[in-house]
Amino acid sequence: MKNFTNLFRYFITRVFFRAVGVHLSSYLNFIEEFWRLNEEEQREKQLEFLNGLGLKDESGKVICDFDSFSRLPIMTKSNFKSRGSTIIEKSAKGSFIRKTAGTTSSPTTVVLNKDELSKLLAVRDYCFKNHGFRLGSREARFWGRATNGFRNDLKNFLLHRQIFDAVADEPEVFLQKLARWNPVYIYGYSSMVLEATRIVKENPVKLPRLRGIVVTAEAIMPPQKAYIESTFAVPVIEEYGSTEFDVIAFECRRRHRHLVNPWIHLERESEELLVSDLSRCSQPLIRYSIGDVAEIYHSECGAFGSFKCVGEIKGRTINQIAYGADGKRFHAVIFSRALEHYMVRVDKVFSFRFVQNEVGVFHMNINGCDEAEENRIKAFVIDFVLSELGVPIEIELSNTEKVDGKKPYFEQQLEEIH
Ligand SMILES: [Zn+2]
Ligand SMILES: [Zn+2]
Repeated sequence: MKNFTNLFRYFITRVFFRAVGVHLSSYLNFIEEFWRLNEEEQREKQLEFLNGLGLKDESGKVICDFDSFSRLPIMTKSNFKSRGSTIIEKSAKGSFIRKTAGTTSSPTTVVLNKDELSKLLAVRDYCFKNHGFRLGSREARFWGRATNGFRNDLKNFLLHRQIFDAVADEPEVFLQKLARWNPVYIYGYSSMVLEATRIVKENPVKLPRLRGIVVTAEAIMPPQKAYIESTFAVPVIEEYGSTEFDVIAFECRRRHRHLVNPWIHLERESEELLVSDLSRCSQPLIRYSIGDVAEIYHSECGAFGSFKCVGEIKGRTINQIAYGADGKRFHAVIFSRALEHYMVRVDKVFSFRFVQNEVGVFHMNINGCDEAEENRIKAFVIDFVLSELGVPIEIELSNTEKVDGKKPYFEQQLEEIH
């Protein structure tokens, strides 16, 4: 009976995607066929995508191969963001806005049309499928606490997922909820999954029969991975992606992160990754500096996706657990959410960074506003954290360092705890 319900809910989710105009299966077929081509044929196809864009360099010459890509300017996160608000106003009816708090210091708004969203979701489905589950399978999402409300409940129901907060919930409540939901896979921030693993380890319970645990956004070390794998008896799969591109690379069983999106062209310049989406029209993303330092290497593993793989990613930190004035622990993603709300409200964009080196106190750095505004932001964030999590905090303004967007938006420097 349980299997039947799961299958039924899976179909509801797939039907929901179709109802909002997302075409998963045709793009999934396309992606599977693309990665079955040989590397020569793949390159030819990507050249076709490139020519479809009609890119020109400064002198007006058309870019028609990847060797001349370096003639195009590098796009930074701040270039991208300053264009953000005008694009949102102009975006056609029926487009999707994807807003996620990433790991770097300011949130990004990404606008997608249905076709673009379909491609991104199909790439995700392709990755999951290669690990024995699907987009629409019962998901447990280990996130920071989600804002409650009917709209979110409905969304989670339709997407066949439930959100868990291993840090804020009492361990027993968390474990009961997890057992009741009985997920097919877990998806979440590395730090949240680690937190959950600690709880499971300390409170022996009957675990759900999982197919995989996908960790995202934050770097995770091999011993941490091994710890999670031995506790849940299931592979931990690292996803490399971002708000702008969704999944860029996905890990196989042999620990390679294979490129998986046929429309993405990845370059490396002075150690940094530059990402281009060869099919994006709503918001051009060409030679976009994603803020990560990593190698690109060629593996001889044909598990799925490309032979090209992304090596160890530097510059994404995992220590994202913060401590409130009452000693309560919470995930620092709340700061990103608070600033996101504030920015939408005042229609401005700031870079920000929070550092904690004392329990309950946070040093806040904001670029791009005056002192009066800083104080308004401070009050807003204190209020936001209290009303969302019930955790009291103090904030001190500090201007000692410049926020450069490459450092994570939160850093916990409490010596006695970690
Ligand atoms: Zn090869
Ligand atoms: Zn592989």
